[in-house]
Amino acid sequence: MKSFPMFLKMTGRRVVICGGGAEAARKARLVLKTEARILLVAPVLDPELAGLVAVGRAGHVATAGPDTFDGCVLAFIATGDVAEEDALAAQARAAGAVVNIVDRPEACDAFTPSIVDRDPVVVAVGTEGTAPVLGRSIKTEVEAMLHPRLGAFAALAGRLRAAVAERIAPEARRRFWEWVYTGPAFDRHRAGDEHAAADMLKQAIAAGQAPEGGGRIALVGAGPGARDLLTLRAVRHLQEADVIFYDRLVDPDVLELARRDADRVFVGKEVGACAWPQAKIDAVIVAEAQKGRRVVRLKSGDPSVFGRATEEIEAARAAGIPIEIVPGVTAASAAAASLSRPLTERGESDACVFVTGTCRPGDPAPDWTALARPGTTLCIYMGVARAGEIAGGLIAAGVPGGTEVEVVSQASHATERRACATLASLPQVIRDEGIANPAILMVRHLKSAAAEVVYPQSVA
Ligand code: SAH
Repeated sequence: MKSFPMFLKMTGRRVVICGGGAEAARKARLVLKTEARILLVAPVLDPELAGLVAVGRAGHVATAGPDTFDGCVLAFIATGDVAEEDALAAQARAAGAVVNIVDRPEACDAFTPSIVDRDPVVVAVGTEGTAPVLGRSIKTEVEAMLHPRLGAFAALAGRLRAAVAERIAPEARRRFWEWVYTGPAFDRHRAGDEHAAADMLKQAIAAGQAPEGGGRIALVGAGPGARDLLTLRAVRHLQEADVIFYDRLVDPDVLELARRDADRVFVGKEVGACAWPQAKIDAVIVAEAQKGRRVVRLKSGDPSVFGRATEEIEAARAAGIPIEIVPGVTAASAAAASLSRPLTERGESDACVFVTGTCRPGDPAPDWTALARPGTTLCIYMGVARAGEIAGGLIAAGVPGGTEVEVVSQASHATERRACATLASLPQVIRDEGIANPAILMVRHLKSAAAEVVYPQSVA
């Protein structure tokens, strides 16, 4: 590190900004976030800066005098004239100020970082002036991770620190603060109910400890694979989890987002077979939550699509454990995105059906006749191994053999593959291309192509 990050106390301190143009205005916007006093030094001010002077938020002099930098902690210089900038910088340094000359990193004492502002929580990202664009993109990622209400909640908790010190024994404080920042009070605050959040915190302080229990289960959608297809809420749950139970289809990249000391348990569910029977998963997630732990059941795609969520929801409810579902991007959406083709097409495909090609052992296959209506996009999950049966069933139900079928395997992964077939050629194409699960078969039974076909009645 050639530069050292620090947070400067700014209340009542003096910042001098030399220059009256857009760069000076940019720096002024930054300093305005603080409680510093601003002095602008420029013969002419742009309208934004003039506005600051007009409302008394900044002082103004046309040129620097001998006492301009007195008591100045920071000086930003952006006049555009190198000789003039050097002279102002020398004067500012002589008065003890730290100097930043805009766009001249070699002449700066300090750089302004990219800032994520959740006052009083502030994240500053610096690249020592080498890669400001990278700094800004990191800022954007952090910006997305931190809830907009984080600062207000941290401020509320901060106001209660003295009460916590008084009422909560030192050995209970760590658990208390963990409860504050990962528990239900923050949830309420995020949902906009500041009063309820404050009441919960105050009750816990009065009780001398964070409430016991607090175990909960979240069924979290991990999306189709690519880690940037996770929702922000899913990431938050991963970062709060004590233990994560995950499936075979969950990408290791996604698990990287979890809290480092969370336990990770692979429950290895395969299509139609489980390393862990479902009943065992149900029992274990409940048992963990009953210990007061925050349990994440991480499922590929959307947990509510062919994810056996019902059993897990029922198990949690039966045990009186709070359960939350965090939706995810389902494989059909990811496949459509990979194909750059929507799931529905106005006038051609007014319905989109998610259907499994592999039902519970012993159950009859899906009723293709009922599903084979023109104007439907059929997204068939777990269908690769039964592509022959499925294609045969749809053709027997009256869907033309020439109907387009797109196959996307490993959608959104680096190993993604796509293939195009017709219903009639589907089994052959899957064999020839060597396509394996996980894959989506997308059958486009468009209205226009089906106009002249006569359909049998549904057998359902
Ligand atoms: N809950 C998941 C589906 C689980 S069932 C979801 O919403 O996506 C498992 C099936 O999903 C796989 O057999 C396959 O058909 C499909 N699938 C899951 N991930 C996939 C991916 N990345 N690409 C294509 N299909 C996928």
